[in-house]
Amino acid sequence: MKSVPSEFGSLVFDDRVMKASLPGKIYASLRKTIDEGAQLDISVANAVAEAMKEWALSKGATHFTHWFQPLTGITAEKHDSFISPSPDGGVIMEFSGKELIKGEPDASSFPSGGLRATFEARGYTAWDPTSYAFIKGKTLCIPTAFCSYGGHALDKKTPLLRSMEALNKQALRILRLFGNDTAKCVRSSVGPEQEYFLITKEMYDARPDLRYCGRTLFGARPSKGQEMDDHYFGVIKPRVAAYMEELNEELWKLGILAKTEHNEVAPAQHELAPIYTTTNVATDHNQLTMEIMQKVAARHGLVCLLHEKPFAGVNGSGKHNNWSIATDAGQNLLSPGETPYENAQFLLFLCAVIKAVDDYQDLLRISVATAGNDHRLGANEAPPAVVSIFLGDELNAVLEAIETDTPYEGVEKTQMKLGVSVLPRFNRDTTDRNRTSPFAFTGNKFEFRMLGSSNSIACANIMLNSAVAESLKIYADRLEGADDFETALHDMIRKTIRDHKRIIFNGNGYDSAWISEAEKRGLLNYRTTADCMPHLLDRKNVDMLTSHKVFTVEELRSRCDIMLENYCKTVVIEANTMIDMAKTQIAPAVRHYAAVVAKDAAAKLKFDATVPCGHEKKLVSRLSILGEDIAEKTDALEAAMIDLQNAGDIIPESEAIRDKVLPVMSALRVACDEAETMTAKDLWPFPTYGDILFSVK
Ligand code: ADP
Ligand code: MG
Repeated sequence: MKSVPSEFGSLVFDDRVMKASLPGKIYASLRKTIDEGAQLDISVANAVAEAMKEWALSKGATHFTHWFQPLTGITAEKHDSFISPSPDGGVIMEFSGKELIKGEPDASSFPSGGLRATFEARGYTAWDPTSYAFIKGKTLCIPTAFCSYGGHALDKKTPLLRSMEALNKQALRILRLFGNDTAKCVRSSVGPEQEYFLITKEMYDARPDLRYCGRTLFGARPSKGQEMDDHYFGVIKPRVAAYMEELNEELWKLGILAKTEHNEVAPAQHELAPIYTTTNVATDHNQLTMEIMQKVAARHGLVCLLHEKPFAGVNGSGKHNNWSIATDAGQNLLSPGETPYENAQFLLFLCAVIKAVDDYQDLLRISVATAGNDHRLGANEAPPAVVSIFLGDELNAVLEAIETDTPYEGVEKTQMKLGVSVLPRFNRDTTDRNRTSPFAFTGNKFEFRMLGSSNSIACANIMLNSAVAESLKIYADRLEGADDFETALHDMIRKTIRDHKRIIFNGNGYDSAWISEAEKRGLLNYRTTADCMPHLLDRKNVDMLTSHKVFTVEELRSRCDIMLENYCKTVVIEANTMIDMAKTQIAPAVRHYAAVVAKDAAAKLKFDATVPCGHEKKLVSRLSILGEDIAEKTDALEAAMIDLQNAGDIIPESEAIRDKVLPVMSALRVACDEAETMTAKDLWPFPTYGDILFSVK
């Protein structure tokens, strides 16, 4: 790579390129669309398309695509070339404003949850000018939203943009009440920390479960796991370092601010964190990051596992969604201010988040629900499925003082009684760290840690933005009508603390005592996707999300169906893979080894009938029992899969997956994992956890 500054963003049609290549008037008009959501004129689109095409051709591109994020969770693209026949029999390179603004991919194979009748295969993609176009390979990629012929959103971007708009609208109302007349817009920003495992391609290829499911379905604990924690922040191995270097270069060229990288707690686990940016762009960037992580790994003979729980008993991979809200002038609304007045505004936004997280715990849980993440939540070093907020001692003391009208004994001893002028000043640097909380305040942002590593961050941010918009709306409605602003404000902050303090938990979220305590507090504990997903359609959730125009009722219904379908399909593939591996690899290996041992013992006895061989007998007996057990559990799993076909609707099907299929899968695994620990390694049909986790040298 040449110098980083010269290469950074070199494959992005970003502001620098737009400014340089567009006529001044066109540029100004486009900026207005990007910054303020102004309607885009077709003449502007034509000029932008022309400049985009010229720029893309100069970078060697031959094709363009509308790049979108259907509900599969990954990105989709359909490539069209720029070529257009010319009357003289040759071709010219063309790209019109119409092609930039709107695309019509054949959308029939993307999930729609019934929103698009099969005869109506058309879907539309619409340019999202707030996310820059970029080049991947020889293709100009245009970030777009994706909707059905009837106008229903079929993607993750559309509701995300709508939720940002809802938050913007309500947050501006609050800012005006605090006398801020200059802010033009408020946006949420996100910095997603991405965890992943890196293993060698040889190991990956040797395991059908990794190839088909992205996670291991069998595997006994290795003798050395993560007990020593010696991997965490340890020296990065040369092969991994080479991978990270190339990954960074690729990301930088795409304008993605990959910033830190380090080893994580588990062996073979690593993390990449970008510098935060506007949620919409951060979401696009995170999707691209995941794609490029896998591509670059392939070039290094490695495989990047993005599954949230590739190895049982070893830390899973999460994605920490660092979230804050800021004005266009750069004021972070979750940053404690310098003056009491600013602090009052900060406390109000803080309360809005507390109320949102408590009122919509279920939506946050739903936003991270997948079959894969169900294995991670509540397991090794991952937050539980219960949502709670960590605030740290100082903020907690401030809120307690407000709640009880007692003096605040913090940095400055202040009486916390009346209006804003006496709300305390506090120092944000004193916020302590808590790594076990699902939703932690970290000084000037919240870190939502329940996301699984393969999740699109869109879902979590849609729910977060919308729920906070709802709190702010309730606050604004009350404050706009208040006779005495300061008293009303103080009362509202206090009421929020009183009503919602149950969601605040500053202790150890990994402790099992917390789960029972949380249940006593009335907090929700939806352990699985099947438990939580149907609540997407609860009245209060539908009312909130539709009132802010983030989703229509039909869109919510379709999403609930698609997510449950996804859950069922994932587990069905896993169950079938398990059956196959158990029958054709594990059972034969166990039988074979038992026969080998028996044969050895028989030979020994033949040689000398007095030779002790109690050990062989015990081993053969145990292996035979396990062999029977494996066969029985495999049969039971097959039977459960057949029963599943009669489940009928998607909700009973997902319940059958949870209650009938997953437990049998666990039982089958236990038998197989025990057999692994007793079978000669050279007869075991695939690499063990130890082989895989320590495969990259
Ligand atoms: P860690 O959580 O590992 O201590 P940092 O606090 O430095 O790391 O940041 C983690 C992520 O949070 C980074 O992606 C960073 O860009 C992002 N971040 C920092 N400030 C904000 C903010 N105001 N809003 C959103 N994300 C932020
Ligand atoms: Mg973090």
